[in-house]
Amino acid sequence: MSDDIPVCSAKGCRAAAVWVLAWNNPKLHTPERRKTWLACEEHREHLSQFLGVRGFLKDVVELAEWQRREAAGGSAADG
Ligand SMILES: [Zn+2]
Repeated sequence: MSDDIPVCSAKGCRAAAVWVLAWNNPKLHTPERRKTWLACEEHREHLSQFLGVRGFLKDVVELAEWQRREAAGGSAADG
């Protein structure tokens, strides 16, 4: 039940997430909105390329740093 370790968003990957990829699809989201994907070390490049070629990728932040920003009251992730 207590599955609160964030894991990588890559398909089939169960590795612990290290990175947060913040992205926005301008056709669906307002400009300040941020969707987030989590990535392990191995999949960070793959996932950021996937978003990057579509022009969606806004930011790549270490998970620890992202959580620090959230705790500080920044704009939170919405899954
Ligand atoms: Zn992964």
